[in-house]
Amino acid sequence: MHFVIIGGDAAGMSAAMQIIRKLENAEVTVLERGGYFSYAQCGLPYVISNEVESTRQLVARDVNTFREKYGIDARTFHHVSAVDPEEKTVSGFAGETGSEPFTISYDRLLIATGARPSLPDWEGKDLHGVHTLKTIPDIEKIKADLAQTKDITVIGTGYVGIELAETMRTEGYHVRLIQRGDHLAPMLDPDMAEHIQKEAETHGYEIHTNEDIERLEGNSEGRVQKVHTKHSTFETDMVIVATGVHPNVEFLAGTGITLGKRGAISVNRYMQTSLPDVYAAGDCAVQYHRIKETDEFLPLGTHANKQGRIAGLNLIGQPRTFKGVVGTALFRFHGLTTGLTGLTEKEAQDLNLPYATAMHTASHNAGYFKNHLPLHIKLVYQTDTKRILGGQIIGEAGADKRLDVLATALFHNMTLDEFEDLDLSYSPPYNGVWDPLQQTIRRRQ
Ligand SMILES: Cc1cc2nc3c(=O)[nH]c(=O)nc-3n(C[C@H](O)[C@H](O)[C@H](O)COP(=O)(O)OP(=O)(O)OC[C@H]3O[C@@H](n4cnc5c(N)ncnc54)[C@H](O)[C@@H]3O)c2cc1C
Repeated sequence: MHFVIIGGDAAGMSAAMQIIRKLENAEVTVLERGGYFSYAQCGLPYVISNEVESTRQLVARDVNTFREKYGIDARTFHHVSAVDPEEKTVSGFAGETGSEPFTISYDRLLIATGARPSLPDWEGKDLHGVHTLKTIPDIEKIKADLAQTKDITVIGTGYVGIELAETMRTEGYHVRLIQRGDHLAPMLDPDMAEHIQKEAETHGYEIHTNEDIERLEGNSEGRVQKVHTKHSTFETDMVIVATGVHPNVEFLAGTGITLGKRGAISVNRYMQTSLPDVYAAGDCAVQYHRIKETDEFLPLGTHANKQGRIAGLNLIGQPRTFKGVVGTALFRFHGLTTGLTGLTEKEAQDLNLPYATAMHTASHNAGYFKNHLPLHIKLVYQTDTKRILGGQIIGEAGADKRLDVLATALFHNMTLDEFEDLDLSYSPPYNGVWDPLQQTIRRRQ
């Protein structure tokens, strides 16, 4: 049986490795339009701050390893432009200039084409010095461009924008943050995002919220020089556009495949699409959200790896379901670690759920310890069932540990009382006798 995988990164290669490990003599072809296989995009911002020494460190396994050690027919610079589900073929163009047409037959196909940064159609978006961040070549271009840069404008303060802004500010650049809504870090509720705002102020960012970009203007050499917004004009040397991502699915037009949330490919729990013998996983596909009980588009590496692995097992006829996500994510912004899982208050409102919140600022260790640091916690719970719906946790220490405990509780639909009863660890250097999460629950109305 011939397995063809489109896309050679997290989801695609997780699937490929399952097939190779679990099925003897499997014939696997992976078609990747870029020049790299299997690299950690999540580490890209840290190349700027030299916390990652070079982009080479980000490559988990290179294309030769896949070919020589695992016998995968791994092909770089193979851009798939069409799928024919009747004939069971994929076709496209190969080579760095894309001049060599190819057509390949499959028995089972996995689409793992990920998502690409959305670049709104602003005038001036193609000027030199305007960047998005997704790939190794992107970060290399940004790094090279920093030589002519003092002032950077970051448009969008979601995960990618905020992480890249942090590494640039740490390196001493003047960084201007522009956000469309009324607070930075739009994935958080406004009351929790205030901590990010304060941290940004402490670290000397220029902050503009409630702003809409109108156009970008260049100098006579075609390099970006000004950002025009609804309310102002800013002089700048570089623009980073981090306004979200869009699933790579255009090549499937005409196949009749069903698309779901935000145009991502609809899949069932076995990662099957609506087309026979065609599966999808990762950022190009939807993820089932366990709290919302609906499909969502949550393009994260943690989901892509898990969905890819499950897709690999199903491709070889070892059925296993993807159990879904609860929307857990984590990021660093200077001294602060911020985590969120499940629903924000805003999402609970949008879903018309009967909810209440519990807010608390605990000490990250026993309060009598020297150097205790605040841990800000917000929990959202359902008022009738007392089920925990979500949480946001921000602090200089201990936020990541609490986030994953909370994510586990959400994954298993725990109620406030069940969480309060949990046997969590206690030792003064790490917490009080009641863990900060349990303290928060005990303070609820
Ligand atoms: C800067 C940054 C930081 C991030 N940080 C985090 C983090 O901290 N935590 C987290 O969970 N996630 C993070 N993510 C998200 C994470 O990297 C992605 O969710 C993950 O890479 C998705 O994996 P994927 O395999 O689905 O898609 P991708 O990694 O996008 O891989 C898809 C591959 O398909 C190829 N492809 C696309 N179209 C075609 C075609 N037509 N023909 C052939 N090949 C094609 C692409 O070239 C690409 O290599 C981050 C992303 C970025 C950019």
